[in-house]
Amino acid sequence: MASEPVEEYISDIGPPHYEKFLPPVIKNNYGKWAYHEVLKPGVLVHVAESGDKIYTVRVGSPRLLSIYTIRELCDIADKYCDGYLRFTSRNNIEFLLTDESKIDPLIEEVEKLGFPVGGTWDATKAKYALSNIVHTQGWIHCHTPAIDASGPVKALMDALFDHFKNMDLPGLCRISLACCLNMCGAVHASDISLVGIHRTPPMVDDDVVRRTCELPSTVAGCPTGALRPDMKNKTIKVDKEKCMYCGNCYTMCPGMPLFDPENGGVAILAGGKLSDARSPARLSKVVVPYLPNNPPRWPEVVDTVKAILEAWAAEAKPHERIAEWIDRIGWEKFFEKTGIEFKVQLIDDFRQPRHTFRTTTQFRW
Ligand code: SF4
Ligand code: SF4
Repeated sequence: MASEPVEEYISDIGPPHYEKFLPPVIKNNYGKWAYHEVLKPGVLVHVAESGDKIYTVRVGSPRLLSIYTIRELCDIADKYCDGYLRFTSRNNIEFLLTDESKIDPLIEEVEKLGFPVGGTWDATKAKYALSNIVHTQGWIHCHTPAIDASGPVKALMDALFDHFKNMDLPGLCRISLACCLNMCGAVHASDISLVGIHRTPPMVDDDVVRRTCELPSTVAGCPTGALRPDMKNKTIKVDKEKCMYCGNCYTMCPGMPLFDPENGGVAILAGGKLSDARSPARLSKVVVPYLPNNPPRWPEVVDTVKAILEAWAAEAKPHERIAEWIDRIGWEKFFEKTGIEFKVQLIDDFRQPRHTFRTTTQFRW
């Protein structure tokens, strides 16, 4: 046992302290910022008590970035911002400048490369732009997706591009996509959420199960008790009636894939929010139980999300989010105005009504 504590503990675990990367103007005025303003869509200025200013140019990213794209972005940051840029949690790129005269040349250069400038909002004027859509990994990386992530979001952003560039929405609107029910993208509290859903049980590959899987832990991983060990054949049997297509067993055992391109698809949820401004934070609710997985442009998904967004944008009061708009007009009117068909799957099952009492197609009685 060491008698003296290590003076300076050096570890390669974890990121370096963020302070090392702060632009000098932020370091010098840390905690002493007086106010900020939106100068135009995509451009903010923060003014410190000392009078110092920092300008932010917000740019939408395609979310999945190659090393070449990141290098291009860093070159722009070197040219205009002394190398300072950051990425937001919604995959926007923010260039941080102190020289106001460099804002327009910077915008011209990023737009020439095909990146949109926008995603900001001015709450004092109730003018909001759509922020970037966040998504999970999809076909490019994860093993359990029911749909792709980047593909449908690209198609959707193409359709909603103008709302990113112009602050023409009445309130904040967060759109998110998770490509399976694990929802590692935390989409469940977004104004509009897209969730990939499996609709068929896992296909058991006995040989892979025998060679690679631990039967007890795979069986124990099923939340509905749909799995039973088949000890005689050293594999696993699935009770299809009990399966809810969650994909947990595939996480435990690679011999139980459940991606089925013909049957997997997208559920759409609406009315979630994380902020407790004006009304409490809440989870989104399913409004479309299933749309087909239809690459490369997912037209059914794009049309449905657009219908929700445009119906809300046309009618919402200043600052009103989709959840609050639905509270005001009622769910009946939501389905009427968006043109979405009400389906039987939207009625909560017998385990839920204690909280919602949504057990019938009659919303008010
Ligand atoms: S949501 Fe599911 S499929 Fe998509 S990246 Fe996360 S765990 Fe993987
Ligand atoms: S998909 Fe989920 S519910 Fe179905 S067998 Fe696997 S773990 Fe069980």
